[in-house]
Amino acid sequence: MAAKKQLKKPAPLKVNKDAKPSEAEPRVVEDRVYRCPRCGHEYTKQEGNFSPSKSPLFKGNNGYVVYCRKCVAEMFEENIPFFDKDEDSAMERVCQIIDLCVDETAWAASRKISANRNRMSGYISKLNIKQSSKESTYSDTLIRRFEAEVENAATVQEAEDNDDITTNIEVIRRFGLGFSDGDYDTLQGEYDSWVDRCGAPVDKRQDELYVSICYLKLNLQNSVKNSAAGVGALANSYKAFIEAATTEIEDRKKKAEAEMQLSPLGVMIRDIEEHCPADFYKDKAIYADYDHLKEYIQRFMLRPLNNLLTGSKEMDKEFNLSGSEE
Ligand SMILES: [Zn+2]
Repeated sequence: MAAKKQLKKPAPLKVNKDAKPSEAEPRVVEDRVYRCPRCGHEYTKQEGNFSPSKSPLFKGNNGYVVYCRKCVAEMFEENIPFFDKDEDSAMERVCQIIDLCVDETAWAASRKISANRNRMSGYISKLNIKQSSKESTYSDTLIRRFEAEVENAATVQEAEDNDDITTNIEVIRRFGLGFSDGDYDTLQGEYDSWVDRCGAPVDKRQDELYVSICYLKLNLQNSVKNSAAGVGALANSYKAFIEAATTEIEDRKKKAEAEMQLSPLGVMIRDIEEHCPADFYKDKAIYADYDHLKEYIQRFMLRPLNNLLTGSKEMDKEFNLSGSEE
């Protein structure tokens, strides 16, 4: 009897449209149909017709997105004009709806493979969600984006270890954690302009001075942007601080120069450092025997020694001059 039953032709599928959703644990029922809530089409199987998903939202739907593949492709097309022809935003919107990750690399790659195909469909197959062990849901994308913001890093080390953080780690060390990427750009830009204007900091104190000016500048900029109260007072204190800082930096520069002048060797080293050393060495006369040691050896050691050994009577050049006049 059992063998006979197996040979029996399957009965046509019956769809009970009045059926209420079952509260029992969801499971695959062989003779059921899978109805797309958007287009209403009824499919006899999910595989191939619906995209696999790792979202907990679709766990009870055998791990498939509830909207059929065709509808997901159409949703993308519909959203392109909605976002003023911006495909990236249209894709992001569809990803939010079907709880799918936004993978910028796979999305960029989908442009090539989707020449004659819907780009969203190309993107989803490129992601290969079933095989992928990486981020897969839109929530994963939100977490990654949150962690990619420097301001959310708990430690400098954490910021350094995160490949998604693009801000230079030295800049983060200089200004500390807690700023946005744009803030770091402003702070470092200001710092660089002070280095251009007043030179690289010669010590920790000058470095701290530059950093403080950068904080004040950012604070002032943000206050102006947000039309915060007390901008005038802030601008005045910023101005006063700049004036005091500039005076101090210049005084320190002058003091350092005065110290240099007291030390001839220091001046020589500074000259070499400030100018291209090669140029100095090209002009041999500048530093050739600058301490006259060579001349001294020639006049007062080698000359008498030569006279002693050879019996010659070569005079020192000071006396030689009068001799040549004869
Ligand atoms: Zn559909």
